[in-house]
Amino acid sequence: MQIDLRSDTLTRPSKGMLDAMMTAKVGDDVYAEDPTMNALEARVASLFGKSKALFFPSGTMANQTAIKLHTQPGEQLICDKYAHVYNYEGGGVSFNSGVSCQLVDGHRGMMTASQVEAAINPPDFYHSPLTSLVTLENTTNKGGGACWDYKEILKIRTVCDAHDLGLHLDGARLWNALVAKSETALQYGEIFDTISVCFSKGLGAPVGSMLLGDEALMNKALRIRKMLGGGMRQIGSLAAAASYALDHHYDRLIEDHQKAQDIAAVLQQSEAVLSVEPVETNIVIFKLNPEIPEALFLDNLKAHDVLVSDMGSGKLRMVTHLDYTEAMHVNLLEILSKA
Ligand SMILES: *Cc1c(COP(=O)(O)O)cnc(C)c1O
Repeated sequence: MQIDLRSDTLTRPSKGMLDAMMTAKVGDDVYAEDPTMNALEARVASLFGKSKALFFPSGTMANQTAIKLHTQPGEQLICDKYAHVYNYEGGGVSFNSGVSCQLVDGHRGMMTASQVEAAINPPDFYHSPLTSLVTLENTTNKGGGACWDYKEILKIRTVCDAHDLGLHLDGARLWNALVAKSETALQYGEIFDTISVCFSKGLGAPVGSMLLGDEALMNKALRIRKMLGGGMRQIGSLAAAASYALDHHYDRLIEDHQKAQDIAAVLQQSEAVLSVEPVETNIVIFKLNPEIPEALFLDNLKAHDVLVSDMGSGKLRMVTHLDYTEAMHVNLLEILSKA
């Protein structure tokens, strides 16, 4: 029984999800005639209280589109040094939008409002790039699934308003944060100009993300999505998968979080482990004792058919998900308690 905790993107569609996909009504979504996709977009838009949502083949494309919407070439966005848009989108920020990133040295991928304010270039100082956008991430991926303090986001919104900056949320795992902090999608829709969410992470759909915003922005986003090659045709089956995921896999995210807590507790006791980052959602990041060779530890796990990811700089990561079952969990805790 392989236990694959490298990521929550590794899940396979369940029987119920496959059935929903097979029976979905479809049409050409480039003509906005896919009934299942139109229904999903309307559903998610209203969930967040935004006027329009657009489906994307990946979270990366949704984020890249948002950045393009809010910036002009030569300008600058502000994000944490751990941000996915900076670290893991292939340099798309510069390729697609011609903008640079002002990196903030935040805590676990999260910045304070005063850090954001200090990172803004004075608009009349024409030697520096013009700051036009702030991008936040919730939960933070490289930050170990940490959740933002909503009050701090409100303060950042105030900073953005004062300096006429756009505010985008990379919410690939926002669902996890909502469940963990008992917050609502509406609270996030109120604050951000644009929000991207993924169906292919904890929710367990095979493909898909959504970008949300007001009507005028999303009409522009439609053209950008087309330019990036993200206009797709009969994608009702993908919408059906995402819709099924929202119906059946949302509330259960709390189980993934509990399992991640259990894993962290066992790792904390292990002599091989130096430190475990606080676990708030479904991601566990930990460091080995310097005298334990990383390759040895990983090989030992591999011998038990356990896969984890190597984040570099001595950090290892485990992510719990839909396909990580109770039986696997019992088994893994046993293996780790001897590691
Ligand atoms: C996974 C992820 C994305 C989007 O990734 P895709 O693989 O392109 O769907 C964006 N932001 C964060 C924080 C992520 O974890």
